[in-house]
Amino acid sequence: MDDRTFRNAMGKFATGVTVVTTAFQGEAKGMTANAFMSVSLDPKLVVVSIGHKARMHDIVKQTGKFAVNMLTRDQEDLSRLFAGQLKEERPVSFDWVNGHPILPDAMANILCNVHSTYVAGDHTLYFGEVTDILMKDEPGDPLLFFEGKYRSIGQ
Ligand code: FAD
Repeated sequence: MDDRTFRNAMGKFATGVTVVTTAFQGEAKGMTANAFMSVSLDPKLVVVSIGHKARMHDIVKQTGKFAVNMLTRDQEDLSRLFAGQLKEERPVSFDWVNGHPILPDAMANILCNVHSTYVAGDHTLYFGEVTDILMKDEPGDPLLFFEGKYRSIGQ
């Protein structure tokens, strides 16, 4: 099977979009990721899959903590920025909570300590034990990703 067939099939699975953030050497670092899942209620675990080529891969290994910021439909530009898809870098303001840089105005921010890791092919699954959750009262609609394109509910 060729890579295109695999990618096309996986693109049929509609997801939300997150930015995984962590503090590295005192500075915020972020990476767009949609390979995110809730895993366990007791203990409270989530997982994010990070490619070995991503700088974030080794950074999370070192920091031992990360936050998952669930994006709203108004944050598509942040998704592109943290996927390295914008031509120009631009400054982003973060809020800081318990040593985590987080994106304000996200649907929710899930703060985690790395619980365990599992190397799977060219990615590593980072399981996070959830330490804090922040949610907005009226966050609006989520940003969605389907067939390689950004979408929103009803579109
Ligand atoms: P870098 O190249 O180091 O950083 C990415 C961009 O973020 C750069 O432009 C950088 O300047 C900017 N940036 C980082 N921190 C800051 C900051 N503090 N302020 C301002 N800008 C900053 N890859 C995966 O491994 N797993 C996934 O689940 C996944 N899902 C994706 C889903 C979507 C919808 C998209 C578009 C991409 C996805 N990717 C995923 C690919 C991944 O986002 C990119 O490959 C990413 O650029 C690799 O991360 P990096 O740590 O090497 O990035």
